[in-house]
Amino acid sequence: MTKWRHIAESIETLEGLALQDDLVAELERRRSRLSSPQPGIHFYTPTFKSFQTSEIKGCGRNAWPAISITGSDCKLQCDHCKAKILEPMTAARTPEQLWTAVEGLVAGGAQGMLLTGGSNHRNEVEYDPYYPVVRRVKDTWPSFKIAVHTALVDTGAAQRMEDAGIDVAMMDVIGAQETITQVYHLKRPVADFERTLETLVATKMKVVPHIVIGLHYGRLLGERNALEIIRRHQPDALVLVVVMPMYATPKRPFITPDPHEVGRFFLEVRETLPDIPLLLGCARPPGAAKTIIDTYAIMAGLNGMAHPSDGMVELAARLGRPVRVTPACCSIAVGEEVMALETEDKSLTLDIQTILKQEQQRRRLKGIQVVSEGTGGCCGT
Ligand code: SF4
Repeated sequence: MTKWRHIAESIETLEGLALQDDLVAELERRRSRLSSPQPGIHFYTPTFKSFQTSEIKGCGRNAWPAISITGSDCKLQCDHCKAKILEPMTAARTPEQLWTAVEGLVAGGAQGMLLTGGSNHRNEVEYDPYYPVVRRVKDTWPSFKIAVHTALVDTGAAQRMEDAGIDVAMMDVIGAQETITQVYHLKRPVADFERTLETLVATKMKVVPHIVIGLHYGRLLGERNALEIIRRHQPDALVLVVVMPMYATPKRPFITPDPHEVGRFFLEVRETLPDIPLLLGCARPPGAAKTIIDTYAIMAGLNGMAHPSDGMVELAARLGRPVRVTPACCSIAVGEEVMALETEDKSLTLDIQTILKQEQQRRRLKGIQVVSEGTGGCCGT
């Protein structure tokens, strides 16, 4: 058994986890080849989903809420989503509603927001009527950060986003035509996704694309091409998410992506983009698959993770990675990191001794939730 496999086994919540020994050994070998110190890992606790493990407790703060300009409407109705991702978000279906929503958010202490919405049939979100409000928001509260899910844009649309003052542009990069046609029901070529990324990177906005792993009905198909597209354009950060089969209909079902294949892809991404912050976003399948995926993500050297599974904080610390916790959506937080705006009072740095002490206490209390108050972060035992 390799050292890392042994470390994973020694963590109570990871005991008996079905990791692949050869993949763990490969991840460990890669790490030992690097001379640089272990990079830190940042755990994010998004506030738009209820979240809690034995180690980290969601704050319940609405620091980075998501607003949809179409409510839960979306014309594309992609097979993996069916617009369900939009449902828990705050709806602002008119520019006036957006202004009122932001006023309320600012009054409630929000530091920024994710602005999104359902797509039209061309995978465009029709933001044009909202830009004057976005500009007014940025002029009124310059420190209020706005990340936008851009979908597909041309040069003019990207310029309007920049002019409105948007801080962070996010988009899904799809690398397989079959996936665009079958899953997204979209008549646009892969080249349009690359052109969008290229166009966004040419603006002053920070650009954080996403790759949805397993987007082709749970199988990996266009991911490596998407990675190649991203390598060519070197955005500010990359968010990886893993498709969740639960919204698919029985007519077009998704399988749960193989977590070991996902782990191997993490390794490829890390090697292809050694200098770009890599974040594991909040969407990934639940249960044991999630724990395996998260374990590989930490071992592969991803820089951040939303909704970490139980045991991940201890695993990261035992592998020698400095651990930090912030109550924020990972994408906007990475935007923050890229912009070097993060301040210590928003996150809680945890050292290995603190984590182990909390873990021992947690085991003693056997399932009783204990929350330690940090300097604005949330960490429970
Ligand atoms: S375009 Fe986006 S919101 Fe609409 S169904 Fe597809 S993934 Fe969901």
